[in-house]
Amino acid sequence: MKKRIDLTGRQFGDLTVLGKAETKQKGRFWNVKCVCGNELVVKQSDLKNQVVTNCGHEETAVKEVKKAAPKKAKAPAKKTSKGTGHVGVSKVELKSGTRYKANISVDGKNKHLGTFDTLEEAVAARQEAEEQYRQ
Ligand SMILES: [Zn+2]
Repeated sequence: MKKRIDLTGRQFGDLTVLGKAETKQKGRFWNVKCVCGNELVVKQSDLKNQVVTNCGHEETAVKEVKKAAPKKAKAPAKKTSKGTGHVGVSKVELKSGTRYKANISVDGKNKHLGTFDTLEEAVAARQEAEEQYRQ
């Protein structure tokens, strides 16, 4: 005689076995409870072969819930300089404060025009340089 397995308390996918189910059908059936709260009767072989892993609820719905874990806020990129919206002018974060660096490309070479306390100064320097090197 085959040894009868007791699946009570075992988990199969989203289903937890509550106990043996009495049915008139052939085979062994178990009362199971789904994570969503639904209770149902599943054939033992279906449980063991993972044919049935939930009550039939929308799989995606559960996945969505699992996915809903709070997303980490994107950490701001730690750059020492970033765009200012002005060509040739970059923002530089220094310990002493924010500075603006002006650069201009002359004959393919990058020329440093200086670091300024304000964006306006840096933009002005860049514009001045543009005038100067335009010819
Ligand atoms: Zn379910």
